[in-house]
Amino acid sequence: MSDKTYLEWPFFDARHAQLERELDAWASRHVSQQHEADVDAACRQLVRQLGEGGWLHHAIAGAEGGSIDTRAICLIRETLARHNGLADFAFAMQGLGSGAISLHGTAAQRDAYLPRVARGEAIAAFALSEPQAGSDVAAMQCAAVQDGDHYVLNGEKTWISNGGIADFYVVFARTGEQPGARGITAFIIDADTPGFEIAERIQVIAPHPLARLVFRDCRIPATQRIGEAGQGFKVAMSTLDVFRTSVAAAALGFARRALDEALAHATQRKMFGQVLSDFQMTQAKLAQMATGIDAAALLTYRAAWQRDQGRNVTKEAAMAKMTATETAQQVIDAALQMFGGLGVVSEQPVERLYREIRALRIYEGATEVQQLIIARELLRAATTKEA
Ligand SMILES: Cc1cc2nc3c(=O)[nH]c(=O)nc-3n(C[C@H](O)[C@H](O)[C@H](O)COP(=O)(O)OP(=O)(O)OC[C@H]3O[C@@H](n4cnc5c(N)ncnc54)[C@H](O)[C@@H]3O)c2cc1C
Repeated sequence: MSDKTYLEWPFFDARHAQLERELDAWASRHVSQQHEADVDAACRQLVRQLGEGGWLHHAIAGAEGGSIDTRAICLIRETLARHNGLADFAFAMQGLGSGAISLHGTAAQRDAYLPRVARGEAIAAFALSEPQAGSDVAAMQCAAVQDGDHYVLNGEKTWISNGGIADFYVVFARTGEQPGARGITAFIIDADTPGFEIAERIQVIAPHPLARLVFRDCRIPATQRIGEAGQGFKVAMSTLDVFRTSVAAAALGFARRALDEALAHATQRKMFGQVLSDFQMTQAKLAQMATGIDAAALLTYRAAWQRDQGRNVTKEAAMAKMTATETAQQVIDAALQMFGGLGVVSEQPVERLYREIRALRIYEGATEVQQLIIARELLRAATTKEA
């Protein structure tokens, strides 16, 4: 049984603790860890289940324009990640993939996409990265040229989660109003649009749908543009400000599960006439794991709470993402070590966690990028004060 005392922290309202309890019970019945032979089918099923369970409503802004509850998204991701990494992925991508529409879409775009996303009837994807533009987003080359009341897209995107199973993609392309980050625009592209194709499926250590996309003279109506032309970088970054904090929450879920597994194993594994948890070296590891998790949780829910207060969280979200993902990697590694040989057996919970955590330190801004963001915010504040 995981430690739930964090739900009493002042960051949360009573409804948050209730949400966690209900989801935890639902997840135990519907999505507890299992081996998925067909990852596409498993993801489609999880999106449907999460929609039917009513959980995906939390991933979008309300139909009447209500805001996203960052703390709810984080609690849901943490809870799902503790049960099943693919369920967390399915939830997160519905939110990330539709986040730009929630935050910046027109009423018509919101009506056309968000209810279907919330019911689990339409699968969403977020397409920002390119082969030559990962950490350096502003180097993107995929271009959209206006042609009357349409735009024509050419270029490619890679590492796109849900690529191959998504019904629509929020795609960022260069429209050239100004150089660099100020000349990018966001568009919604339906998967059946002529000129759009899945060029390659990519296999990764923790399998989930992932693809490289290609656009060849792909014509889309200007009504599919999200926000103003040239504002796409801001659209992407404001979406990431919400979901970057939730990556930290997912890492917390993985770490809590690893600590639970470690405690269960260490207290029953007999050796040298004692059990593993009788040894002080084991106790030191457990103490460090639990303290690291609490420290990461405090940063994560501080960022989520601060965003829900309507405040800027660029620095706080970066601190949370960096700390929670790096800590979770260490916690999971320590847990695996306690399992000895059993820890590296395929599909054992800790083996799976070991693979699942790795990409979180890279996507939505690698740890080094988070460090740059934190330092930039610190230096900006310092130089503004001096001026
Ligand atoms: C499993 C997975 C899912 C993904 N899903 C999506 C998705 O749905 N949509 C999407 O758009 N993208 C997605 N991505 C892409 C992801 O955001 C990029 O992989 C990430 O931004 C890093 O870009 P890159 O892979 O090109 O690495 P690079 O930009 O080449 O960076 C390589 C490494 O360089 C280091 N580095 C970067 N900047 C600096 C610096 N300034 N100083 C020192 N070191 C630095 C970091 O360690 C970094 O990991 C996904 C990636 C993965 C692995």
